[in-house]
Amino acid sequence: MRDSVQMFVFCSECGIANTVFAEREQLGKYLLDQQTVQVLFYHMKMEERQVIEGFRNGTYLCEDCWNNLTREEE
Ligand SMILES: [Zn+2]
Repeated sequence: MRDSVQMFVFCSECGIANTVFAEREQLGKYLLDQQTVQVLFYHMKMEERQVIEGFRNGTYLCEDCWNNLTREEE
């Protein structure tokens, strides 16, 4: 059986929590910089990959806040 980890990240802007499941082995490779998130989690939606990136980087913006931010910059 595959071993999966649940990740919680909070949006830096509005504080909403998002969660995603990833396989421990794949997540380990990503955290060790052995492979990019796009390659390891190619089967996931972009929003889910952003959660994983946020988990590693320590900053995360939810989809709504990201949309608001990009709209303001236009
Ligand atoms: Zn947000």
